[in-house]
Amino acid sequence: MEQNKKQETSMENIVSLAKRRGFIYPGSDVYGGLSGTWDYGPLGVALKRNIMQLWWKMFVEDRDDMHGVDAAILMNQKVWQASGHVDTFTDPLVEDLETKQRYRADHLLKDAGIVVDGLSLDDMTRVIKEQGIKSPNGNELSEVRTFNMMFKTTVGPVANDESISYLRPETAQGIFTNYKNVVDTFYPDLPFGLAQQGKAFRNEISPRDFIFRSREFEQMEIEYFVDPATWEESFEHWRQQVWAWTKALGLSDEHVHELEVAENDRAHYSKRTIDFEYDFPIGREELLGLAYRTDFDLNNIQRASGKNMEYTVKGTNTKFVPHVIEPSFGVERSVMAVLSSAYREDEVNGETRIYLALPAHLAPVRYAVSPLVRNKPELVAKAREVYDVLKKKYGAVMWDDNGNIGKRYRRQDEIGTPYCVVIDFDTLETDGLVSVRDRDTTEQRRLEVEEL
Ligand code: ATP
Repeated sequence: MEQNKKQETSMENIVSLAKRRGFIYPGSDVYGGLSGTWDYGPLGVALKRNIMQLWWKMFVEDRDDMHGVDAAILMNQKVWQASGHVDTFTDPLVEDLETKQRYRADHLLKDAGIVVDGLSLDDMTRVIKEQGIKSPNGNELSEVRTFNMMFKTTVGPVANDESISYLRPETAQGIFTNYKNVVDTFYPDLPFGLAQQGKAFRNEISPRDFIFRSREFEQMEIEYFVDPATWEESFEHWRQQVWAWTKALGLSDEHVHELEVAENDRAHYSKRTIDFEYDFPIGREELLGLAYRTDFDLNNIQRASGKNMEYTVKGTNTKFVPHVIEPSFGVERSVMAVLSSAYREDEVNGETRIYLALPAHLAPVRYAVSPLVRNKPELVAKAREVYDVLKKKYGAVMWDDNGNIGKRYRRQDEIGTPYCVVIDFDTLETDGLVSVRDRDTTEQRRLEVEEL
C-alpha cells in the first residue's frame, strides 16, 4: 500500500548500528533505561550538531531577514494558559483493562487500518467497540479520554498553584514571547523571522519507533512574521525552503511527500498546514510541519498580558498584529531520516559490507588517517604529520590505527566517513602521495595532501 511504503532498511538495522558504533544509546541504559529518552554518543552528537548547524546557517546566518533567539525552557505558566496548551495539548488515551497499560487510541485505530482523521473521542470509543479492537496484549480497552502531554513541575521552594510551571512542549512560544523584545530593540522590516533551536518535552503516551517519538527531543522552529495581505507568498517561499532543507540533508525527493492537512484536521488556529512526510523504515510519517498560524499567538499574548503586539510599518501610521508562517523541524526525525536514507549494504570481496552514505558535510568524521602498519615509526610519524594538517583544517578528523587496514575501512564505512587516508611505504620512498579511499566506491587514488 502506497501509504505504508517502507524503505528497504529495517529499523532494527539502524538501531543496532546506532548503538554498536556510538551514535545513540537508550537513555539511562545502565539503570535499565527510561522510556522515551535517548542519549547521543560521540558520533551521534557530532551528526546531530552538524544537522543543527546546517539549519542555523541556512535559515539564520545566510539570510538578512532572520534573527536567532534562545529562550528559557521554564516559562511563566501564563504562557501555556494563553497558548491553549494547558487546556488542549492532549492526546487520546485508552487503557488496557487487564494490564492497565496505556496507548494512543488513534495509533491503535490506525494500526487496525482505520482512518482516524476527524474522529472525536466518542467516535473512537464507538469504533473500538464496534470493530472489536483489542490492546496489543489482546485485552479489552477502556473508553477513550484525553491526556495532557505537558510535564508539570514547580519553580522555587514553595509548591503551590502560583509556582506551577511546565517543561516546554514546543520552542515556538519562547519565540512569540520575545517578538516584542526583538521589535523594540531591532525594529526589523516586515517580513522577518525569529528562529530557535532547543529541547522540547512531551509526555507521549506511548513513545515508540526509536527516536521518532521521544519524550525529550529537540526542535528547530521559525516564526516568520508577515503582513496578513502577503501570507500566501511567504507560505510558498517557506514551502520551497523546506524542499531545499530536505535536499541539504541528502534525502531523495521521491521519499519526501507533502500532505495538505484537511480543514477539520488542522489545529483550530491554522488556516493552512502542510505536513512534510518521509518514507522512514517504519512507514511514511511526519518529518516536519509548515503552518499558517494567522495572528492567533500574538493576539493571545496581547489579550493575556495587556501589552500591545502591533507592528507599525516604518514611515507610516499603519499598524497591525503580524500574521505568522511557521516551519517547524524536529531534530530527532531529521537524524532518523538521515541515518535511514544513508544506510547501505553491499558486497565487497565476497563479504557483506554495511556503510552509511552520509553527505560529507554531515558526516561525524570527515577523514580517517592512519599509517598502513603501526609498528613502523617512520610511517607513523608521517601519518601524524598528515593528520595534524587535516585536523587543523577540518576538525572532524579521526586517527585510526587499530587492527588491520581492512578492519579500519569496515569501521569507518559503518560510521559514514567519506575518505580514509593511508600513509604507506610509497608515500615515504617513492611519490610522497597519500592513498585516499572513497567510502562509496571503495576505490583508491593517490593524492597530494594539499589536494584533500
Ligand atoms: P506527531 O503528529 O507525529 O505527534 P506533531 O504534529 O504533534 O507530531 P508538531 O507539534 O507539529 O508535531 O511538532 C513539530 C515537529 O516536532 C514534528 O514535525 C516533529 O519533527 C517534532 N516532534 C514532535 N513530537 C515529537 C516527538 N515526540 N519526538 C520527536 N520529535 C517530535
